Amino acid sequence: MQHITILGSTGSIGVSTLDVVGRHPDRYRVYALTAHQRVEELAIQCARFRPQVAVVGSARAAEDLSRLLAEKGVTTEVAYGEAALCEVASAAGCDAVMAAIVGAAGLAPTLAAAKAGKKVLLANKEALVMSGRLFMDAVSANGATLLPIDSEHNAIFQCLPSSYARTPSGHGVAKILLTASGGPFLKRAVETLENVTPEEAVAHPNWVMGRKISVDSATMMNKGLEVIEAHWLFGAAASEIEVVIHPQSVIHSMVSYVDGSVLAQLGNPDMRTPIAHALAYPDRIVSGVGPVDLAKIGQLAFLRPDFQRFPCLKLAYDALLAGGSAPAILNAANEVAVQAFLDRKIGFRAIDRLIARVMDDVPHSEIGDIDSLLEQDRRAREVAGSLIS
Ligand code: NAD
Ligand code: MG
Repeated sequence: MQHITILGSTGSIGVSTLDVVGRHPDRYRVYALTAHQRVEELAIQCARFRPQVAVVGSARAAEDLSRLLAEKGVTTEVAYGEAALCEVASAAGCDAVMAAIVGAAGLAPTLAAAKAGKKVLLANKEALVMSGRLFMDAVSANGATLLPIDSEHNAIFQCLPSSYARTPSGHGVAKILLTASGGPFLKRAVETLENVTPEEAVAHPNWVMGRKISVDSATMMNKGLEVIEAHWLFGAAASEIEVVIHPQSVIHSMVSYVDGSVLAQLGNPDMRTPIAHALAYPDRIVSGVGPVDLAKIGQLAFLRPDFQRFPCLKLAYDALLAGGSAPAILNAANEVAVQAFLDRKIGFRAIDRLIARVMDDVPHSEIGDIDSLLEQDRRAREVAGSLIS
């Protein structure tokens, strides 16, 4: 029996994780669930999965949750705040942690899970993009197991040999081919992108996801963050990671080998597949996702990405090449810009312009420890905020 903590259980990944976990009561038990504000949903999840602990974002939310749980006769212990998130991510009672909080808010608990040597199922790509080497060092120094949930990275993981040790050339890997759908604006006239609305931007053609990652998919910053994520997970240089636009989202990514072979992982666009893969690894379990109907799909298309249309992708490659805290600054600026866009304070194209300005204005440096990293994150958010108001 594996005991699982799900950080961000009310989100898109969290709900899909509970769907898979609920299919295998013989294998998994929920140790802790966490949500920021949506206490009603969390209370329903607690009533069904009976975790030992539930964590929310504030004292007020904790009061509300306690009341709802008492009404339902659920004895789950309630806590709130970042320290409590770190606690449930590192507790002796939990074996595996699904890191599915969105954005930098997930960094501290995800890092806590790595430091406690847990099996870390990583959906929260922002945490890895920000902390890079610090996070990977915490994983190896504490004997944690890191398994990628992001569908592309999970696909790449499946296409690499099981002995893979973060050195592409050591395993005959020529390139990692990261596929991208191109999002909702792949074909829209570039001049009209200035005026797209949040509703248009979050309407992803293939995937149903949280709002932040949906906007990131529309700007292709999501793919940029994934390039940086792939760099850390697989030890690949920027030049060894190529983005390929594949609008059908059937191939989730590929690995190209020096002998000319290209291995791909295919599946329906449903996150329960990578979640089930990582939960059960190296076993295979039913996820609730049906088989791919290749004849119905008919054709698979591939295109090169256009940096003019998707400047955020270029900004992310630049940040990876700059190194040090540059990806953390990029990520912070992006989080602020995306929220401002969703709040209708800035236009869609202002997202990439704002990030570029912040990258120019905030000097990056080597990251020695988590405090200096958080200081850079704070500084980037401050500069981004001042450019908006
Ligand atoms: P979401 O917005 O649907 O859910 C986010 C979860 O995080 C919620 O449970 C929310 O309560 C919690 N949360 C938000 N802010 C918080 C805070 N400040 N403190 C504590 N908890 C907080 O997001 P999602 O789409 O499920 O994405 C989660 C993560 O997984 C992101 O990092 C995203 O990039 C990554 N991811 C998502 C998908 C997908 O298909 N949705 C695919 C790949 C990777
Ligand atoms: Mg992805």
